[in-house]
Amino acid sequence: MKRLCVLILSLIICNLATAQTDSLLSGKRDTLDRPADIISGFTLFAKGNGAAVDTLDVGDGRVKIVLRDDNTWYLIKNVEAMADEDLYTRNWREHLVNPYLGTPLDSIPYRVTIPLVDSVSRFVCPHKGRVFSKFGVRHGRKHTGCDVPYPNGTPVYCAFDGRVRLAERHQGYGLAIVVRHENGLETLYGHLSRMDVEPGQWVHAGDLLGLGGSTGRSSGPHLHFETRYCGHAFDPEWIVDFEHGVLRKNVFVLKRSYLSPYSRYVPDSVDDEEELYMTEEQIKAEEERIAKERAAMQYHTIRSGDTLSGIAHKYGTSVSKICSLNSGLKPTTVLSIGRKIRVK
Ligand SMILES: [Zn+2]
Repeated sequence: MKRLCVLILSLIICNLATAQTDSLLSGKRDTLDRPADIISGFTLFAKGNGAAVDTLDVGDGRVKIVLRDDNTWYLIKNVEAMADEDLYTRNWREHLVNPYLGTPLDSIPYRVTIPLVDSVSRFVCPHKGRVFSKFGVRHGRKHTGCDVPYPNGTPVYCAFDGRVRLAERHQGYGLAIVVRHENGLETLYGHLSRMDVEPGQWVHAGDLLGLGGSTGRSSGPHLHFETRYCGHAFDPEWIVDFEHGVLRKNVFVLKRSYLSPYSRYVPDSVDDEEELYMTEEQIKAEEERIAKERAAMQYHTIRSGDTLSGIAHKYGTSVSKICSLNSGLKPTTVLSIGRKIRVK
């Protein structure tokens, strides 16, 4: 019996040692400065390095505290408790990018407060770099994420703690991974060349999900990253500053209006704090204003022989006004037939 225990113990120690070397090796390939305790993996949120002696539930049972023999402690997430939660059981489909098919936009509140990080939940930028293709509509096609270029084989990290829902080949996204997070968001990582996780696996912010590539409908190696709420994509730049590899805020007030491919991150938007203290009447007025604005929007589909000045004349507007409503559109742009442009 004693010999068996020693054997098991040495196996554990051996495994720990190899895993630690592995993470150190992968640490070398890091393209961003992940916190040291995330890279080492074994001392997550830990203070001190004594041996664990007891585990206690904290609060709602989602988090456990592990006490060590040197009077220090660390926190762990209680995945058994979380596995039964609605969040990880409802609309849980392993082969559908959007499993929330019965959730129309109108059923989502005007604004939802989403705590992105707290004392036990962290954020790690999936890949730090400059966004070269933004969220929105490009060439009449919806682009429901943002693209950050990188060399083939670049490690891609999980943004927040959560559980992998989908990890498979998809026609457009190529090798794609979708992770559902405790904060209610889902993140999607597309065009990967290798996947290191499988559906059902619990992951931490900073865990290696796979390696970057150019699979699927892609023009070159880049990370296509999406953030979704109830299946509806919103511009990831609302929350992530990819260039610096950091979150823009710890608490995000998601407005329903962001859940549209026509809504993009605006650097100097109304302060969320201020927005939190709006009265119900003010919110209603704001909703009505947005609805009116939406109703007033008009689109024109380009037909043979159309010119921008002709279209402007037809809708009683100007070429420069039309250009301002369509990102990338210039008076000299050659209009391709079938392209939909906003005219009002
Ligand atoms: Zn993309």
